[in-house]
Amino acid sequence: MNVPRKPKPPAATDPAQAAAKPQPPGTGPSLVQRALRKIGLLRDIDFALYLPMRYEDETRVVRLVDLYEGDVGQIEAVVTESEVTFRPRRQLIVTVDDGSDTCQLRFFNFYPSQQKQLAVGARVRVRGEVRGGFVGRQMMHPTVKAAGTVLPDALTPVYSTIAGLAQPVLRREVRAGLARAVLDETVPAQIGLRGAWPLRDALNFLHYPTPDVSIAALEDHSHPAWQRLKAEELLAQQLSQLQARRERATQRAPMLRPTDSSEALHTRLLAVLPFGLTGAQQRVGEEITHDLACDLPMHRLLQGDVGSGKTVVAALAAARCIDAGFQCALMAPTEILAAQHFGKLIGWLDPLLAERGLRVAWLTGSQKKKERDAMNAAVESGEAALVIGTHAVISEKVRFKRLALAIIDEQHRFGVAQRLALREKAGDGLEPHLLMMSATPIPRTLAMSYYADLDVSTLDELPPGRTPIVTKLVAEHRRDEVIDRIRHQLAQGRQVYWVCPLIEESEAVDLRNATETREELAGMLGDAVQVGLLHSRMPTAEKQDVMARFTANEVHVLVSTTVIEVGVDVPNASLMVIEHAERFGLSQLHQLRGRVGRGAAASACVLLYAPNEGGRVGETARARLKAMAETGDGFEIARRDLDIRGPGEFLGARQSGAPLLRFADLTEDALLLEWARELAPKMLDQHPELAQKHVDRWLGSKAEYLKA
Ligand code: ADP
Ligand code: MG
Repeated sequence: MNVPRKPKPPAATDPAQAAAKPQPPGTGPSLVQRALRKIGLLRDIDFALYLPMRYEDETRVVRLVDLYEGDVGQIEAVVTESEVTFRPRRQLIVTVDDGSDTCQLRFFNFYPSQQKQLAVGARVRVRGEVRGGFVGRQMMHPTVKAAGTVLPDALTPVYSTIAGLAQPVLRREVRAGLARAVLDETVPAQIGLRGAWPLRDALNFLHYPTPDVSIAALEDHSHPAWQRLKAEELLAQQLSQLQARRERATQRAPMLRPTDSSEALHTRLLAVLPFGLTGAQQRVGEEITHDLACDLPMHRLLQGDVGSGKTVVAALAAARCIDAGFQCALMAPTEILAAQHFGKLIGWLDPLLAERGLRVAWLTGSQKKKERDAMNAAVESGEAALVIGTHAVISEKVRFKRLALAIIDEQHRFGVAQRLALREKAGDGLEPHLLMMSATPIPRTLAMSYYADLDVSTLDELPPGRTPIVTKLVAEHRRDEVIDRIRHQLAQGRQVYWVCPLIEESEAVDLRNATETREELAGMLGDAVQVGLLHSRMPTAEKQDVMARFTANEVHVLVSTTVIEVGVDVPNASLMVIEHAERFGLSQLHQLRGRVGRGAAASACVLLYAPNEGGRVGETARARLKAMAETGDGFEIARRDLDIRGPGEFLGARQSGAPLLRFADLTEDALLLEWARELAPKMLDQHPELAQKHVDRWLGSKAEYLKA
């Protein structure tokens, strides 16, 4: 498939470029520098804010007799025996004695230099975890140093590192960066956190804590020094989003005044819809109408559970825009989804637009050039009042005449650069109004932090007549019963989805697996049943063909990988089977499940799981899956998913290039988040320079990304 290339972010926002130290001509950055850059360490402050993930206590030497199995300890002892054996494999076995007892040290991989260091008679300082064994105490691969050197007076930090960057090197670089960094306070004392640790003290302490503190409190971030950093980090995030919001307030968008005459497209569309709007759809529609009528660009997230009817809301917003004489663009992340929108909207809108000499245009990367050129021409002339498509909508060749509203479905699948590109399509120094849609409801804390720059509308009501989906957990060995269930549904003229698991990163393997599953099912269900296959690797035409046949009920069972996750709408499908459900995230399962229960028939979702696959699927996995069976509430599921998997899942590409919160935890630090939310506007008003300094310090050049 001919997918347009993802636009590169503007060069100025590449932190690696922006903050690189000047290099003498002809020399590139050293290997170490390159590795440091890779983990985001460029400016002195980046080093200072690069905090240890754990600590080692090398400040004390203990006696062997006081160490029990499982203890980690540092001893000083004399080597009494040292030999290399080859059974069962090559290893160095050393016995040391510290006067209180002896301990065996074992090394499978060792250098000659280590062997020399551990020669009989040598006095060494050894640090490792004690294991019990036939021969008494043992340590596997302990750290060995010469004995007698001065003991450090602080805990030793251990930083997260990458291949090619050894821990001691990283430690040295961080220490140097920390020493150089300017760490003056940015949060004015009179509005700041009362009683909190000063930033400088907190950072110095967290890199090199005194040995009297609880390592556990350091490692679980509950120590007061951590509170200071979490608060600062949350504040930076709030400030940058508030800045973005204020910056937007200086921009202008076309004012799309609503008309409610009987001739208006909006009115006509409402009349042709085969259903009345839900209360939630009406309310959200009014919120959007209000935004569109202002010259402040709308920046609204429309969230609603799968099946809550976001498409209609989008269509009505588009109608408002077209009524005001402007163009609207609707962009979806996949071709299948875009095609579904297209099919639906064209059915509703095309006849109405035709009366006005307007039309709906379709843009996708897989289009033939001739067709595409025709579409582009229609967009440029303004004849295409509504433009629907994939990323192709933002490709350079597409020029709108008067774009006023951009709608992005499944917004978290798009990157910042792509949203920016769409915004730039308005031209004339105007910004389009932006409506982003998401079926993954965003938990409150996340909305408050990452989405603080957005207005949020929620469809909290499903259209009437939906039958609740019954979710069942079924162990893999009861697969036969599931096949019977499928037969039963098919006998009633219903259709079935069968979702294959993500097995590997490799799509080729997933495809093979899905292909085999299709064949297996086709064999079991007999010739009368058509089993189709849908996979992201298939050519677009094939995908569209199988989707069309599934929609027309010519294909009865659709075997697919997770490409059907978003947006697919076939009301006659009443059963979904998800294989290896334990491998999916909760929100993902919920989205998948939302493909059924769209028609009048009682619907079910079967979560097939492998109870004891190599011992991997334990109680927690089962508990997670049980949560799916217990609740159909997308918000509740999203909340549990956030607890289990952290915010990455929800943010997706939105934050690509921008940091996730490194220190603060949205669940645990809700109070600090509230504090940051209250402080941010005060600080921006009363101390704008300090606010800017704070944002620069924490986000550096990445702050740009947050503004999109
Ligand atoms: P989603 O929010 O997941 O994108 P859709 O917009 O695809 O949901 O809507 C799901 C289904 O519900 C579609 O078939 C749509 O036509 C239908 N629908 C939307 N709104 C209503 C309504 N108010 N009453 C009845 N059916 C509706
Ligand atoms: Mg949708």
